[in-house]
Amino acid sequence: MTTTPPQPPHNPYPAQPGGYGPPPEQFPQYAGQPGTVPPGQPMPGQQLPGPGQPHEYQGPPPQQAPYGQPFDQGQQPGQQFGQPPFQPQFQPQAAPMGAMQCRFCGSFPAVQATVRGHMGLLILMRFLKLEGPFCRTCGIATVREMTAKSMWQGWWGIGSAIINPFVMLSNIGPWKKFNELPEPAPGAPGRPMDLGKPLFKRPAVLGLLVPVLVIAAIVIGNLTTTTSSEAQAGDCVKNAGTISDPDVKVVDCGSPDAEYKVLGRVSSSVSSLCDQYEGATVTYTEKRRATGYTLCLGPK
Ligand SMILES: [Zn+2]
Repeated sequence: MTTTPPQPPHNPYPAQPGGYGPPPEQFPQYAGQPGTVPPGQPMPGQQLPGPGQPHEYQGPPPQQAPYGQPFDQGQQPGQQFGQPPFQPQFQPQAAPMGAMQCRFCGSFPAVQATVRGHMGLLILMRFLKLEGPFCRTCGIATVREMTAKSMWQGWWGIGSAIINPFVMLSNIGPWKKFNELPEPAPGAPGRPMDLGKPLFKRPAVLGLLVPVLVIAAIVIGNLTTTTSSEAQAGDCVKNAGTISDPDVKVVDCGSPDAEYKVLGRVSSSVSSLCDQYEGATVTYTEKRRATGYTLCLGPK
């Protein structure tokens, strides 16, 4: 008796690879297949330890903790394959989990803070700002750098001169915070910033004298420059303006600026009244709303 094996349902399409029925070779064979290694066989180029040969770690060398990453808690320093015994002075100290690390060198402890500086550019002004977290060293270095910049660059402009003191004072808070931090733990991924000299040993500190000098110059200028309204007989004057737009100032009679000597002063804008003063060749009249005065001037 003959039996007909069950036929697949009628396929209207010509037979395609991957169509009905299993492909001729369904499972890859280990033997002779490139790129596969049967279990228990060494990888190409890999040697199994021979008899009496110590089993050494053959993988990539153990790596140091990457930047900003604390050491893996399960990994014991000094117990890695192929590592020399633990040498504490070369091992980075692990930051506690979740501890803030310095944004600039990765060390800890660190605090969050914003350090500011100011630059006056006559009309424009520039606000400088650097945000943390900072370790003690990077924090103090940044406060010193920013404040030093503000000390001599922060004054140049009327608005800037007013803002600059507040900008510099705003760094006192962060500076106190940084000072309270202990030194960064050794072995940080990066090198902390260079502290540089203390602020008051930098030449920039002389910049603090800029506003003082400007104010002093204005005050001294006002004190020493006497306007013509206070000129009395016997004083010497100079014309700081022009003939048509005179600006008469009282100056010291011994100074080379002295141009004229005040021979007399009349409380009137009638310049002919100067005729009473012998030698008066020039008159200077200042008219006010109600009254005026005239200086009768002669050669020095
Ligand atoms: Zn730092």
